[in-house]
Amino acid sequence: MGPRREHPKSAGCGLSSDKPQKPSTKIVTAGRREALTGPVVNAPIWRASTHLYPNVAALEAGKTSNEDGRFFYGRRGSPTQWSLAEALTEMEPGAHGTMLYPSGVAAIACALLSVLKAGDILLMTDNAYDPSRSLADGFLKRFGVETRYFDPLTTDYDTLFCDRTKAILLESPGSLTFEVQDIPAICAAAKKNNVVTVLDNTWATSYFHTALDKGIDMAILSCTKYIVGHSDVMMGSVTTHAKYWTRLRQTAQQLGQTVSPDDAYLASRGLRTLSVRMKAHAASALQVARWLQTQPDVANVFHPALPECPGHEIWKRDFTGASGLFSFIHKGDAATAAAFVDALGLFGIGYSWGGFESLALPVQPEKYRSAVAWEKDGTLIRLQIGLENTDDLIADLEAAFVKARRA
Ligand SMILES: *Cc1c(COP(=O)(O)O)cnc(C)c1O
Repeated sequence: MGPRREHPKSAGCGLSSDKPQKPSTKIVTAGRREALTGPVVNAPIWRASTHLYPNVAALEAGKTSNEDGRFFYGRRGSPTQWSLAEALTEMEPGAHGTMLYPSGVAAIACALLSVLKAGDILLMTDNAYDPSRSLADGFLKRFGVETRYFDPLTTDYDTLFCDRTKAILLESPGSLTFEVQDIPAICAAAKKNNVVTVLDNTWATSYFHTALDKGIDMAILSCTKYIVGHSDVMMGSVTTHAKYWTRLRQTAQQLGQTVSPDDAYLASRGLRTLSVRMKAHAASALQVARWLQTQPDVANVFHPALPECPGHEIWKRDFTGASGLFSFIHKGDAATAAAFVDALGLFGIGYSWGGFESLALPVQPEKYRSAVAWEKDGTLIRLQIGLENTDDLIADLEAAFVKARRA
């Protein structure tokens, strides 16, 4: 063995400069925890339910700390999960910690359950992901929490809140209709009213949109999407600052939330290439979106980087990029739009997004609205643009438009 380089503290990776790291550097270096995982650049899979203590005194001492980095029992994770959680924390300036969950939906549920109780009101943006609504209208309602939906594009923030309002769930942009919300303004109004702000940040990730520095208290990711990036793992995360950390952590632990080291390993592996994938998704999706704008069968394209997308100016101000997911209105009826999607060869038909492969599906936002109706002629189609060559993707879309017209 050659001379060993000193591997310094777990965080920060022994930088020689004090300059803050750029996001793409953090993605590579964050959460290595070499002190625990050994001199490797990605934490290995550390399988264990039982951690052994040398004696009873150490077993007792172990009960006094409840933080990542301390072996306790498998449910509290091992270096594989701690490394991933720490990396996600480092990507959100101002964050204290990150909890991991077996899915994005579990992350949303646990974030809300950690701050709500019977009698409280939850505000939810009307463009929220359907399972978030289902959690509110089913589970939370049964436990005495009332949910009020609001127009994602409202600017009348102060009238949203009342004495019983305790949390607000935002999703920006909405993952079907892509309205971009004025997060700093909503957070400022929420703070005045002592309301916890929770953001589903899955579309941008903290690579394109840091949330806590915009005023968000809890930033949620469905890691299933871009963090994992390869369509083979389900996972969610919530990143928060010190104020809500203990509640968030205890709620997750009380509900027995845990992710396997194998899944955490795959998520860490995906994370390390997030910046190059995001740049590629961004460039290709925008090229396809611009091409769609020129097509006779297309009425509108909802892509935050295009001026016709509601909230485009806010996107320009708050985000550093646009990811690979957007939607457009096909002028045809549902049957024609279905024929269009069926005719696609390179686009898979399936839920989820954020992987390396392109996907398409017709979506019906009108079914999931209660505050403001979604009234548009035609049929909304959502595209996830993967890492295929864009000329091939455009040729596929072009051929499908022709086939659908004939159908
Ligand atoms: C997929 C998704 C989720 C849920 O994540 P899962 O990991 O599938 O449970 C949450 N929010 C948005 C916007 C999503 O697209």
